[in-house]
Amino acid sequence: MNKEKRREILTRLCANNPKPETELNYSSPFELLIAVILSAQATDVGVNKATDKLFPVANTPQAIADLGVDGLKEYIKTIGLFNAKAENVIKTCHMLVELHGGEVPENREALEALPGVGRKTANVVLNTAFGWPTIAVDTHIYRVSNRTKLAMGKTVDHVEQKLLKVIPAEFKVDVHHWLILHGRYTCIARKPRCGSCIIEDLCEFKDKTE
Ligand code: SF4
Repeated sequence: MNKEKRREILTRLCANNPKPETELNYSSPFELLIAVILSAQATDVGVNKATDKLFPVANTPQAIADLGVDGLKEYIKTIGLFNAKAENVIKTCHMLVELHGGEVPENREALEALPGVGRKTANVVLNTAFGWPTIAVDTHIYRVSNRTKLAMGKTVDHVEQKLLKVIPAEFKVDVHHWLILHGRYTCIARKPRCGSCIIEDLCEFKDKTE
């Protein structure tokens, strides 16, 4: 895909949604971090249902640590993989209290050292809580980037590196939300809704639907 087309795609996605936001509910970097840890292989809707009850009761590292693993499980047991996630969240809360003064560190290395936090989660937190131009590639972004040929790659890491290279600076902070939302609602996995896609004429996918 040439750079003019790429820029036009981003310009349209931007015009359609100038201030894209995550669909996870949060009101602080810490709440966002916990919501993103819980969201692995789960829907944002499912995570919000749990955190809407959890955060009014406990929304600091110390308060969630005080719930303990079993106490936390009561709030998150509707989310997939909740046993492992409860263990990770409690360990993460202890580390935030002991190593970071109860704050979420604005630092990739420190974030990735937290249990349950990998590169993708660190990218989401750095981008959405702190405004860094990081691009967290999930299954939606991977699919949309490859289908459209916006940024092709065989792995999520390849696609992330390609996107970081080819996306113009002014679009970098928001591109991850535009692509997630496009993948979630329009360029869906099984049968993309090409007929109602705002970038249909620019997309280079060979098997577009009606
Ligand atoms: S035209 Fe179809 S394949 Fe291309 S981005 Fe739109 S929905 Fe996805």
